[in-house]
Amino acid sequence: MLLPSESLDRVLGDRTAKSFARHLGLLTVADLLQHFPRRYATRGELTPIAELPIGDSVSIVADIVDVRERFMTGRKGSILEVRITDGNGMLSLTFFNQAWRQKDLKPGSRGLFAGKIGAYQGKLQLTHPDYELFPEDITDEAAKAWADLPIPIYPAAASVTTWMIQRALGVILDTLEPIADELDKAIVKAQNLLSANDAIHKIHRPAVTADWMQARQTLKFHEAFLLQAQLIKRKAENAHTLTTARVSGAGGYLEAFDNSLPFTLTAGQVEVGNEISNDLAREHPMNRLLQGEVGSGKTLVALRAMLTVADAGGQSALLAPTEVLASQHFESIKRTLGEQLAKECGVTLLTGQMPAADRKRALLQIVSGKAQIVVGTHALIAERVEFLDLGLIVVDEQHRFGVEQREALRLKGKTPPHVLTMTATPIPRTLAVTVFGDLDVSTLTELPAGRKQITSHVVQSEQKALVARVWSRVAEEVAAGHQAFVVCPRIDEDDDASEFLDAGGSLTEPEDMETDLLGAQKPKRPLAAATSVAVALTQNPALKGAKVGLLHGRMSSEEKTSVMAEFVAKKIDVLVSTTVIEVGVDVPNATVMVVLDAERFGVSQLHQLRGRVGRGGHAGLCLLLTSAEPLSLSLERVEAVASTTDGFKLSEIDLQLRREGDVLGASQSGGRSSLKLLRVVQDAELIVKCREIAQTLIDQDVTLEKHPVLAQVLQAQDEARQSNLAKA
Ligand code: ADP
Ligand code: MG
Repeated sequence: MLLPSESLDRVLGDRTAKSFARHLGLLTVADLLQHFPRRYATRGELTPIAELPIGDSVSIVADIVDVRERFMTGRKGSILEVRITDGNGMLSLTFFNQAWRQKDLKPGSRGLFAGKIGAYQGKLQLTHPDYELFPEDITDEAAKAWADLPIPIYPAAASVTTWMIQRALGVILDTLEPIADELDKAIVKAQNLLSANDAIHKIHRPAVTADWMQARQTLKFHEAFLLQAQLIKRKAENAHTLTTARVSGAGGYLEAFDNSLPFTLTAGQVEVGNEISNDLAREHPMNRLLQGEVGSGKTLVALRAMLTVADAGGQSALLAPTEVLASQHFESIKRTLGEQLAKECGVTLLTGQMPAADRKRALLQIVSGKAQIVVGTHALIAERVEFLDLGLIVVDEQHRFGVEQREALRLKGKTPPHVLTMTATPIPRTLAVTVFGDLDVSTLTELPAGRKQITSHVVQSEQKALVARVWSRVAEEVAAGHQAFVVCPRIDEDDDASEFLDAGGSLTEPEDMETDLLGAQKPKRPLAAATSVAVALTQNPALKGAKVGLLHGRMSSEEKTSVMAEFVAKKIDVLVSTTVIEVGVDVPNATVMVVLDAERFGVSQLHQLRGRVGRGGHAGLCLLLTSAEPLSLSLERVEAVASTTDGFKLSEIDLQLRREGDVLGASQSGGRSSLKLLRVVQDAELIVKCREIAQTLIDQDVTLEKHPVLAQVLQAQDEARQSNLAKA
């Protein structure tokens, strides 16, 4: 009997297994069993050809009308063109250099054809579609039963077709060892689920539609339950882990700092500050998520926590996602603490690109315990950094750090350090429960007094007069002594932009894309590039005399730091940049931001970006330039951002508009472990239900003694995570 842990090459043969691994990342039988169909087609189902939308993936049942082989002019090779019809519309199938397919594709035969609809010279076509031809000699009755059998359509690749996947699964399911259920029989019954074994079989080989629907429901339940069980168990274990309590006494750094503050803490800062100091005073590691709008004063809250730990004799590490942000944090912490206090606490910077001598000095400060507040990037994890007594880790911008990285840092303490993660991207409750279910959550809801509103407007690029007005508006701000950001989606013409946009931003829709002859998609128009925009702005008559600077991710860290320093010192009026300024950058004198090709950015990304202006008691203005089509989803996203500054509302909108898989992004560990069937928005109720069930179960059986299968599955998940950690 075949076990799920068996590797695919043993079952499918070397060659096939290699393609499965390379193109779909599937290595074991279990991986393939978890590769679920995207949808199901039936052979009896007719999608009218006339209604096929360009850019969609479709499966259609049709008859072959004729087959023609043409030779390409001017180069070698042939095109096989097969026309198919459903009785009304006509569609071409195109195969390059695959004339041998004429053997199968005979006029008059009927089949199922699947692929992405493209257009060539105004006609609809499918390039290199998957197909399955129906048998010719089949009785009417058999034909009917066969025609009603749901056909699973799998996420596939050009060289691993959905049929290949279906066949491989057929082989596996025939010999698979029955799968044990990690759910109690009582739960299976009460929730009206299939057994785990039935569900796996029926999702891949349904006899009728009801089969796969029930199977999906069951497997979704398993997914939600396992996810929650894992998080709850981790939280329970955490509550039993012992660590050093950190309490600040009278006359310490914290007291001195609080007395020196030129403003009063907001009510939220006081409340969250108390939650954190209570956590730190316990002998179990804190694991808290601090969320709040950009500028709500999170960093200040974190700094007070670090001072608490310093008072107790421990060290803190503040981890920033980029070099620029790390040095900004470093500078701003020194400024906020004042020279005297900063020196006493040994505020120290450590990044990967520091000169060797500086780094050596920093490492020494850290290992000797003199550095009580250390600010750095990934270098804090990656390098052989040793702390004397690491008591607290503060992670800035949760979404950039995976679970693995947080864990790597935790190993750096003598005792497990307390962890505080901060994010300015508010997370809707269901998502928080799904992804951060092992964390306690604090939220800062109000902005410090004196913070001015940000006004946002959408400007469509065709409206030339308005676009000109945008630049004269920027000029007015500069003339008034303020500064401006201009944000572009890519660095230069060679940059394909994808790495600088978060997943939501790279979401491209058919209307922005063109399909070329081979079915490849490309944007209709080149995107604004920072380097050329910087040049163009220096020549823009409206901005005559203004100093324009450039900042992007491909510059060295010294260059970046020096450009930021010039901007802070007002030697640059207009800073053209990519999303490197997305988080944390704090220049109170900047009052206006122009975002070019705004539709290319994600909703939360735009929200984060505009948080860079209006920080210094002057009103902020954000102008979102876009050439998204009217009524398109892209335009809807940009308009949503302009319509509200409520981050929570935006994150809900974002969740609804984004592709689900992207929502979890880097916060979910190691690629493959991200959600499969579960959808955080649609399945919110299921997730909450599973959380309650898992909580009850673990409350009664923390060690999972009475649930050996569950214990085993969770253990396997943990091991997969650990091996990701080792690889990272
Ligand atoms: P966040 O990290 O949430 O974006 P910061 O902690 O960086 O916010 O705070 C943004 C700015 O507001 C900083 O210049 C900080 O000194 C200032 N600030 C923080 N708390 C207050 C407060 N209670 N009153 C006035 N200003 C504050
Ligand atoms: Mg901040």
